[in-house]
Amino acid sequence: MAPWALLNPGVLVRTGHTVLTWGITLVLFLHDTGEPDTARPQTHAIPPLRQWEEQGELLLPLTFLLLVLGSLLLYLAVSLMDPGYVNIQPQPQEEAKEEQTAMVPPAIPLRRCGYCMVLQPLRARHCRECRRCVRRYDHHCPWMENCVGERNHRLFVAYLALQLLVLLWGLYLAWSGLRFFQPWGLWLRSSGLLFATFLLLSLFSMAASLLLASHLYLVASNTTTWEFISSHRIAYLRQHPGNPFDRGLTRNLAHFFCGWPSGSWETLWAGEEEEESSGQAA
Ligand SMILES: [Zn+2]
Ligand SMILES: [Zn+2]
Repeated sequence: MAPWALLNPGVLVRTGHTVLTWGITLVLFLHDTGEPDTARPQTHAIPPLRQWEEQGELLLPLTFLLLVLGSLLLYLAVSLMDPGYVNIQPQPQEEAKEEQTAMVPPAIPLRRCGYCMVLQPLRARHCRECRRCVRRYDHHCPWMENCVGERNHRLFVAYLALQLLVLLWGLYLAWSGLRFFQPWGLWLRSSGLLFATFLLLSLFSMAASLLLASHLYLVASNTTTWEFISSHRIAYLRQHPGNPFDRGLTRNLAHFFCGWPSGSWETLWAGEEEEESSGQAA
């Protein structure tokens, strides 16, 4: 393999994310004015993380580092895992299932993908970037360089939550490490890097808050981003009044985070779930 093959967008984005995350963490840990102690104002001369470390209190800096590491691992997991691709080569059992699906519910508007020619399950969509059909497609995330779909959406939400926690903590650390004094030239040299980190963290915190809030809202109502923005273009939503997949807040959250109650989207769409469960009980 040619070395430049490693320079694909996915590898660059992931390396960029990792370098940025550790860069910010390092600034928050090691930032120091470099001035002699006498020149420093006595309050907040160095960020609390370093102060705690110097005072021998290792629990907080260690917790912070573990959170950073956790968010990084979640990022890599979401970014590298299979988001729920629909099999292009149907397995023998799947062929039978496909026949069944094609026969049983005539009302369900299943469609064949025009790119990979597979029969798309309900809520699946073809992603042009990934060149595959993805089950319960949510969106293609350029920051992850991967689709967010049935298999990694839960981890994506967990990543957003953990990342927001790290960002807010980092924001607090950067703010408490900042000190404002004249002259500006000296201030810029001593606190410029920390201030730039503070601005960057503010920007990322706002983006992460908005994303997390919108995803929690969508999860609570069992809708995907794609369905939310394009409901008028989606046949299975146009044919059904309201949101056919909404089972109420508790069941939506339980299904999203724990996979319970189970059941296919097709049965839910056709409104057969209640009859099925009452049939089983009887
Ligand atoms: Zn496709
Ligand atoms: Zn994609």
